[in-house]
Amino acid sequence: MTDHWSLVTTHPMRYPVLCYQPGCGQPAVYKIAAEWSDGITHELKTYGLTCAEHLRVWYQRALQSQKRCRLAPGEYLGEPAVYRFEPNVRDVQLVRLRDLETQLRRELGGAANP
Ligand SMILES: [Zn+2]
Repeated sequence: MTDHWSLVTTHPMRYPVLCYQPGCGQPAVYKIAAEWSDGITHELKTYGLTCAEHLRVWYQRALQSQKRCRLAPGEYLGEPAVYRFEPNVRDVQLVRLRDLETQLRRELGGAANP
């Protein structure tokens, strides 16, 4: 137990946030989320928190679920984005990793062209 947590000492985490992948158990380092708004509230809609290994599969899932998403009039949903996840950091302060998104989309085949 102690050995495991010594790997993640960069942040003083009281509650380590783990990767969403069932059975993974590694700390989350990426947050996949899209900007969402209903015209009044703005927030990040989270698709998943993942370790480096599972980022790709969850990003793909986010792209698919965004395609299926039906929006009510006045609602806005941005494209799924990848952020560097840091515990105890508010959404607005998260750093978006656009290069990584581009790379992932290329790997997942298409969908990248605007
Ligand atoms: Zn994982």
